[in-house]
Amino acid sequence: MAPAALLSRQLRQWCSPVTDKKSFSDLGAADPTTEPFWQACLEGRLIVQRCESCGVHQFYPRPFCLSCESGALEWVDASGTGTIYSLTTVRIPVSEELVPPYLLALVDLDEGPRLLTNIEAAQACIGDRVAVAWRARDGLPPLPVFKPAGR
Ligand SMILES: [Zn+2]
Repeated sequence: MAPAALLSRQLRQWCSPVTDKKSFSDLGAADPTTEPFWQACLEGRLIVQRCESCGVHQFYPRPFCLSCESGALEWVDASGTGTIYSLTTVRIPVSEELVPPYLLALVDLDEGPRLLTNIEAAQACIGDRVAVAWRARDGLPPLPVFKPAGR
């Protein structure tokens, strides 16, 4: 078996407990901490947690604040804009939904949290401004991805 095909098969096996879930209710029931995030995605809203004690924003969702350990967290709408912190082009197929080549990036939201995401563009650069876009998925909430801002 070719190395790329073997890697792809192994990744599918490793990821199957997550990616085989095709219903949103399964996702929400599996993790109540992240359910508000996915509900907002259904409405086309990108939300992040904000600590009511120290004001720090965080993502991904957690049951307490990473800055001060307070459990008083609220969900707030993010601006949906940010800056590419790091970027790479994926050229090896790892899932059937993502056909290489595609851009994988760390995006710093204007509110502060850093997201691992995709950039929907042929090219992008570290430091580029980006805005949230929504990738439709069959049987799952839309996934927040990013596109170059102003295009
Ligand atoms: Zn805090």
